[in-house]
Amino acid sequence: MIAVENLSKAFASKAERVAAVDNVTFEAKSGELVTLLGPSGCGKTTTLRLVAGLERADGGMITIGSHRVADGATGFFEPPHRRNLGMVFQSYAIWPHMTVLANVAYALEGKGLDRDEIKRRAMEALATVHLEGYADRPAPRLSGGQQQRVAIARALAGSPAALLFDEPLSNLDAKLRVEMRGEIKRLQRSVGVTALYVTHDQAEALAISDWIMVMRDGHIIERGRPDVIYRRPRAVFTARFIGDANLIPGRVVDIDRAAGRAAVETAIGRLIGVDTNGTLKIGDAAMISIRPEDLAPAGPGDTNTLKGIVNEAIFAGASIEAEVVVGDTTLRWLATRGMRVTPGTAVELAVGIDAAVALPAE
Ligand code: ATP
Repeated sequence: MIAVENLSKAFASKAERVAAVDNVTFEAKSGELVTLLGPSGCGKTTTLRLVAGLERADGGMITIGSHRVADGATGFFEPPHRRNLGMVFQSYAIWPHMTVLANVAYALEGKGLDRDEIKRRAMEALATVHLEGYADRPAPRLSGGQQQRVAIARALAGSPAALLFDEPLSNLDAKLRVEMRGEIKRLQRSVGVTALYVTHDQAEALAISDWIMVMRDGHIIERGRPDVIYRRPRAVFTARFIGDANLIPGRVVDIDRAAGRAAVETAIGRLIGVDTNGTLKIGDAAMISIRPEDLAPAGPGDTNTLKGIVNEAIFAGASIEAEVVVGDTTLRWLATRGMRVTPGTAVELAVGIDAAVALPAE
């Protein structure tokens, strides 16, 4: 378990003071993988470094397992090596002059274990990442993905209370990244270790996380399960940052509190969406978010219909990536194979009321 309460950290220079982490509170329960997701500079890495003890907080508390490791109120600060954490970074931090085994064993030095026990545990950790056959190989003679697995084995070797990952896949090519994220998820689940994971890659966060914390300007602005964050964002920022939403501005003209819906008058007509915050009022500036894959040819009885002209249609294998111009608004439409999508032709599309989301304008 990792619990962070009211954590804050500012960096001050002569010119300015940056509140890198501003009153952040979250918890990763035992065995969960929790991701801090956000654009560059939002404070994810600083949060992770505070948990690791590589930075000292200005205020707030951090608990790992049953141990309080930092407390702003008393000034208590446990140094990194006493926090019982395994860490995996973007740069694999592999020692080039050592073998694979020695790299993993290194993490177990200084713990009062004898040679045989260190070797046994290091081999066990290597087996977890399927690299036991590479134990004697010089570490640099491994592929990027294998080096990252050594780094994960090293992080696991000391049976840490939690694992911290900071953009661990950034140095890998796209295909390997997808492979490795699946592997990290499987491994973390099978070992049952609590993990805090930092990434700016929304697809990675969606694929790997039990919970996602969306960060912006030092704050967590939204938290949720990946599918809920994706389908039911509560902030325009989230809808824009995760996936590829069509965002249509307008003004709230009707509210159905019981159904949790808002009707929004937009340049392309009146659209009804789920009011995910439950806070919209008539007259509020709002944004309707529609995922490209939630648009489909309209049928009888559909509400939320849109008449437009297909502007572009790109065959993308399993789907067709189309652009449809409705009035002055261009919408992205992910059509499924078999639908007729011909540039220059008129289409009438609809989006289900439950698939459109009405958000407060930013
Ligand atoms: P990235 O994905 O680019 O690493 P991030 O979301 O992890 O971004 P942080 O590295 O936590 O963001 O940085 C948050 C803010 O704090 C940024 O504005 C950054 O410039 C600032 N910052 C981070 N470390 C320091 C430091 N040591 N000194 C001064 N400012 C810092």
